[in-house]
Amino acid sequence: MARNCVARLAMALAASWAAAAPALAQATQTEEQERRGALLRNLPEWAAKRQFGQQTAAAPMAARSIGSYAKGCLAGASALAVDGQNWQVMRLSRNRNWGHPDLIRFLEGFARRAPGEAGWNGVLVGDISQPRGGPMLTGHASHQIGLDADLWLTPMPSRRLSNAERETMSATNVVRSDWMDVDPSVWTPNHTRIIRLAAKDDKVHRIFVNPAIKKALCREAGGDRAWLRTVRPMWGHNYHFHIRMGCPAGVGGCEEQDEPPEGDGCGAELDRWLAMQHKAIFGPKPPPGPKKPPPPPMSVDALPPMCREVLVAR
Ligand SMILES: [Zn+2]
Repeated sequence: MARNCVARLAMALAASWAAAAPALAQATQTEEQERRGALLRNLPEWAAKRQFGQQTAAAPMAARSIGSYAKGCLAGASALAVDGQNWQVMRLSRNRNWGHPDLIRFLEGFARRAPGEAGWNGVLVGDISQPRGGPMLTGHASHQIGLDADLWLTPMPSRRLSNAERETMSATNVVRSDWMDVDPSVWTPNHTRIIRLAAKDDKVHRIFVNPAIKKALCREAGGDRAWLRTVRPMWGHNYHFHIRMGCPAGVGGCEEQDEPPEGDGCGAELDRWLAMQHKAIFGPKPPPGPKKPPPPPMSVDALPPMCREVLVAR
């Protein structure tokens, strides 16, 4: 009984997540600013997302990813240039093109390989991290230590996008309207190639995509399947894919994630995800219970102690 309740709650949360996440990731500058303003009016001073969300420059310290992907911060960040030969950064007003220098170098190299190895002119880069990492005012639980990057599932056009286009243009939703497979009118073999290119890099420990995308990758991978282990199903992620690098070598304080389970992940686990997602979006909604207040925001104290130094470094 209790188990069933928990499952229903998870389902309800998942439904709101699945509905809200793409909208958040795709929000235009105006929508994003309204959301930030409303949040700031209600957030206590000690909230980590208030403190880190308002930082505008990197902490001038040696580069270091501190803590875990969803509870940590970033010292000595580098910014990805907003334009490269094979990439363009989107939503510049968010100022989230900051990452650990290892991730920034990886992204530059990856973008350069996109034309030759995936048939894309280049990549459109969404959120990486804030200048000092940490929790964000809007969107994302992770992206806190400069080792996560969202890449749009839209190939980079051959021209430079204007600032206005970068704020308002929407990425491509590649998932079919029943959320059980990709949409064949927008999905291409090059989508598989670009995700595979990232997944085959040893520095990339995980890639998150919608379960419907993983289904397509499983079908299209053919005999070369080891890379599929790196690609994990996740809510949302139907407009972009999410690259997660492992902790940089030789520096302590960065919490590595467990290895993904063995195997290509194309069997029972994927089926469960597809069924769970379908039920969350289309299934009967649980009867409305008493509304619980939202949990309090994460405080600066909840982060590793060194994140206080990162916050105040000048
Ligand atoms: Zn992401």
